[in-house]
Amino acid sequence: MSSLSRRRLMTAAAGIVAVAATPRIVFAQAAPSPAAAPAAPAPDGPFKLPPLNYAFNVLEPHIDAKTMEIHHDRHHMAFITNLNNLAKTNPQLGSNSVQNVLGNLNALDDSIKFAVRNNLGGHANHSMFWEIMGPGGGKPEGELAAQIEKDLGGMEKFQTDFNAAGLRQFGSGWVFVTVAKDGKLAIETRPNQDNPMMDGKRALLGNDVWEHAYYLNYQNRRADYLKAWWNTVNWKKVSERFAAAKAGTLGA
Ligand code: MN
Repeated sequence: MSSLSRRRLMTAAAGIVAVAATPRIVFAQAAPSPAAAPAAPAPDGPFKLPPLNYAFNVLEPHIDAKTMEIHHDRHHMAFITNLNNLAKTNPQLGSNSVQNVLGNLNALDDSIKFAVRNNLGGHANHSMFWEIMGPGGGKPEGELAAQIEKDLGGMEKFQTDFNAAGLRQFGSGWVFVTVAKDGKLAIETRPNQDNPMMDGKRALLGNDVWEHAYYLNYQNRRADYLKAWWNTVNWKKVSERFAAAKAGTLGA
């Protein structure tokens, strides 16, 4: 052992003695830090939080790791918790498909309609959101690129119009590209956690313009967030959703 390591060891040993002699310091060191508090455990029930298939920090600097962690582990988890609580007394919510329930909200009892709209809508929106982002990047190719050209005027016009729609959405909500069975694309916004499935449409992709999606990094600068967000889109996933939408097999 070098004299340096021995000195370190002795210093460390002296530190232990000093700590042991002053219990208040030991108590302070043992207290859990708020930053280390674990996320709430997954609640029991039919609804599960879909895992994020990439690390919280891979979308930086466009979306910071802390925003991703809070957004996925806390905000999305709150929808899951609420849905599992609703499913305790309404088990059909868990056994039916998300598409069927959201497409037939009026069939639900008034006592749960509003809660299902917000929480199942939120679950669907965020499941799509995590899926279409990631480190993959890329750009639209093949049939998807052609459809964007045809319906949305090409990538530059599409992104400009999509950002403008997201900026115009007053308060909280989403900006989507909806996709019809024949592949036709359209830019549409929805308030709160509404999802295109509620009026028989499907989301190809969408961006969350609730403040919780960007406030830590961008504060009130929603326009900057909308612009930067394009760097996080995984176009390979979007292409898979486009093909699935046309085949009628697109999940939430
Ligand atoms: Mn959100």
